[in-house]
Amino acid sequence: MALTGIQIFKLLPKTNCGECGVPTCLAFAMNLASGKAELEKCPYVSEEAKETLASESAPPIRPLTIGTGDYAVKLGGETVMFRHEKTFVNPPGFAAVVGTDEDDASVSGKIERFRQCQFDRVGLKLRPELFAVRDAGGDAGKFQGLAKKISDETGGSLILMSGNVDALKAAAGALKEKKPLIYAADASNVDALGALAKEVACPLAVKGDGSLESVIALTEKLSGMGIKDLVIDTGSRELKKVFEEQILIRRSALKNRFRPLGYPTMIVANEMAGDLMEETVIAAAFVAKYGALMVMSDFQPHSVFPLLLERLNIYTDPQRPMTAEQGIYPINNPDENSPVLVTCNFSLTYFIVSGEIESSRVPSWLCVQDTEGLSVMTAWAAGKFSGESVGTFINKCGIKDKVKHKSIIIPGYAAGISGELEEELGGWNVVVGPREASQISKFLRAFKPQ
Ligand code: SF4
Repeated sequence: MALTGIQIFKLLPKTNCGECGVPTCLAFAMNLASGKAELEKCPYVSEEAKETLASESAPPIRPLTIGTGDYAVKLGGETVMFRHEKTFVNPPGFAAVVGTDEDDASVSGKIERFRQCQFDRVGLKLRPELFAVRDAGGDAGKFQGLAKKISDETGGSLILMSGNVDALKAAAGALKEKKPLIYAADASNVDALGALAKEVACPLAVKGDGSLESVIALTEKLSGMGIKDLVIDTGSRELKKVFEEQILIRRSALKNRFRPLGYPTMIVANEMAGDLMEETVIAAAFVAKYGALMVMSDFQPHSVFPLLLERLNIYTDPQRPMTAEQGIYPINNPDENSPVLVTCNFSLTYFIVSGEIESSRVPSWLCVQDTEGLSVMTAWAAGKFSGESVGTFINKCGIKDKVKHKSIIIPGYAAGISGELEEELGGWNVVVGPREASQISKFLRAFKPQ
């Protein structure tokens, strides 16, 4: 039975020094209890307490990282079954397979498409992160060369896939600084790959024979060897079975704290489907439940983009709205005669409004006020987009130094603040703009600031 936060608190030093990253020992204890912190963060825990807390302090699903730098992918660390309970933490990584049996044109094509699959969305860069380099013939030199070429030319993180231990040893040895995922330890090679993962300090995938019992045997053996960074591939390739296994693994890890299944899982979608479209649908199912790594046969924008969007939606904290930074945004090269608009910092509002202004081609200043990520109507109802708050923001943000006129356009849904805002701005003309963003373009083209 898991210890409660209070039980854990009793074992901590209670000095509230804050070195663990939270201000009090009680807060740290609560984070440990919910799997959001690791015991090593507190340098002052006694050895005795460490022993008692060892099993309690580890997150129920082991967090680990594949790769380094910009394309590093964090997996695991999840603490809830359902996103609405709290939030999912580490978005799954997307990988495409590139094999040693592919010709140069095919490899170059995948590298090029990997580079193309970069999308700007709500201020974020969405992109896949990994290549799964597959050894098709046991040629260690060719395998290592391809993995190095992919790493050097893309910077992407790597999964090294081979059934040949020597080929894996050569490639993992040469690329260990890049922290690739070694794939995969099964019953036949678990000792050798366990030793390799330990030697090169890289994460290791285990591949079952289609049963969870086989996975448990592998993870127990490897954890007994001191290898903690494991990723589970159950070996199943039938959709319904994989789906059931993912739920069983997540439930066992979270609800029963069953350590042998407390690792992130990977979905080898390219071996479950007949074409990329089917792979995409399968990967989409497991973005929601509960794949941490998706392996597909290729990167194609029409396949990758919807998966990236789904990932963004599923892994956005539902309790924390996405926001744009408060400030003045010049759009279409505005000058001192350009119109001034104000809106909230809910990122969707910001991107829709700025997009409409941009497409109007009217040079404009867009002032974005911090409303804690609330939309205009919600912020207005909560008193965060009132005449007073907007007035204070406009008076302080510096827009008055950028324009010669004294007009400001407010969102149509916030018409009710116009009187109070005029008082706050002292002599400025407050103009009520359209309610719908789609009308902004037409409105701006006809608007003359005074
Ligand atoms: Fe308490 Fe340890 Fe955190 Fe300091 S570092 S506040 S002693 S839990």
